[in-house]
Amino acid sequence: MARTGKQYLDALRASPPNIWYKGEKIEDPTLHPVFKGITQSVARLYEMQHDLRYRDILTYEDNGQRYAMSLLPARTKEDLAKRSAAYKLWADANLGMMGRSPDYLNAVLMAFEQSADFFGEYAENVRRYVQHVREHDLCTTHCLTNPQVNRAKSNLEQPDPFIPLGVVSQNGAGIVVRGARMLSTLPTADELLVFPSTLLKEGPGADKYAVAFAIPTSTPGLHFISRESLVAGDSAYDHPLGSRLDEMDCLTVFDDVFVPKERIFILGDLQRCNTAYAETGALMQMAHQVVVLKTAKTEAFLGLVSLIGETIGADTFPHVQEKIAEVIVYLEAMKGFWARAELDARLNKYGLLCPDRGAIDGARNLYPRLYPRINEIVHQIGASGMITLPSEADFDSPVGQYLEKFLQSATLPARERVQLFRLAWDMTISGFGARQTLYERFFFGDPVRMYQTLFAAYDKEPYKQRIRDFLGWKQQAQPEAVASD
Ligand SMILES: Cc1cc2nc3c(=O)[nH]c(=O)nc-3n(C[C@H](O)[C@H](O)[C@H](O)COP(=O)(O)OP(=O)(O)OC[C@H]3O[C@@H](n4cnc5c(N)ncnc54)[C@H](O)[C@@H]3O)c2cc1C
Repeated sequence: MARTGKQYLDALRASPPNIWYKGEKIEDPTLHPVFKGITQSVARLYEMQHDLRYRDILTYEDNGQRYAMSLLPARTKEDLAKRSAAYKLWADANLGMMGRSPDYLNAVLMAFEQSADFFGEYAENVRRYVQHVREHDLCTTHCLTNPQVNRAKSNLEQPDPFIPLGVVSQNGAGIVVRGARMLSTLPTADELLVFPSTLLKEGPGADKYAVAFAIPTSTPGLHFISRESLVAGDSAYDHPLGSRLDEMDCLTVFDDVFVPKERIFILGDLQRCNTAYAETGALMQMAHQVVVLKTAKTEAFLGLVSLIGETIGADTFPHVQEKIAEVIVYLEAMKGFWARAELDARLNKYGLLCPDRGAIDGARNLYPRLYPRINEIVHQIGASGMITLPSEADFDSPVGQYLEKFLQSATLPARERVQLFRLAWDMTISGFGARQTLYERFFFGDPVRMYQTLFAAYDKEPYKQRIRDFLGWKQQAQPEAVASD
């Protein structure tokens, strides 16, 4: 059932994830200065589900109970539209700057549940697990890629075969896994989903890496080892994003972690691991949430550059107008991808309505390339205003009078103008902003290999044929059949 923010925070306190920060285990992430802001922000999202202004968008009713809209089975276009309205509301609440809002992986889980037969003997585990997540409205994170030790070698050729996560042993009760995954964002989740993302190669002993499961983030032997915090300070004026939205990224270590048999979704099956996301429709559902989130983020950037241009009078210059128009074009492109993804959605063989792959692939391959350019436009328009950024305390000090005079702008008093530019700095320059850029480049996968996959999968033949026809070529000769006995 749709939970409240308090229920999320209480659950974290009752079963804290095994998070390590600067050599110390975090006892209560809801109070720790590094994790407090993000846990409050996730709690606010859950709280919105109970706000009567948003309840009917963020939740759906079934048998008198309300559940998260992101777990609504997608069977019709109306379902998809309801799902994306919920994604958009949460995305806007954080200017599109929270990557692991619970709806992101709910989209995957919903697809797994609807396509559960794909999982063969583990289908019931998948159904029961997603029902459990739905009943308790759990927040999940995931970890997909193995440690970056030597990408030129296979899993088995690493210095230790259990650097990549693998199964060490199994019995009737479950399995024991050992190794690590490179990254989990938002360790302050209730549950960790563990699926492989890159293609697993066949080979003697390779099946130990073919595993998919879900465990609580507080499971013994599981460790989230955090990077340096980007919170930078408590003040929402000084650090409008860092203070609230530093999700944290962690190396995720599995030191002989026991996974009970009912939490296993795939075991020893390379083929299922390699095709799970595409075959179940999870890839399209997940990317549908992403397209909506990135549209919200682009809208936030358009608002930002428009206000910056206006406040310092720079939007009177044609080249600044052109740059703002460039962001408008990107936004309209994202909206176009989103609309077509829903318009051309098709049922998969399990009866799940999947957003159109072409539109989704276009969006998820384009955005990592657009994002650095949008950042560049913010810098080009904001210029020195991006860095002449006294703090809130300076305004209340003896030098405040100078700031009021010299940092006023054409349309705003100094405090508001600095607040606006502080947001621009946090979006694009601060540690938080720099991490966002890296995130946009990689969070959905390696952009190089994503392009290669698109090249291989896209049906280019009709377009080649149009050129052949235009040039008046005869029909392409079919390759001769090879005789076989
Ligand atoms: C801020 C941030 C947050 C993230 N959060 C999460 C998360 O919550 N959960 C999660 O699972 N993952 C997360 N990721 C990881 C993300 O999935 C990976 O970054 C992405 O899949 C690329 O993998 P990699 O980083 O291991 O890069 P690598 O695979 O190590 O690539 C490094 C370089 O080598 C090249 N390369 C490597 N192998 C090949 C190859 N076979 N062919 C051609 N080129 C190759 C790449 O193109 C790249 O230039 C996050 C990443 C970032 C940056």
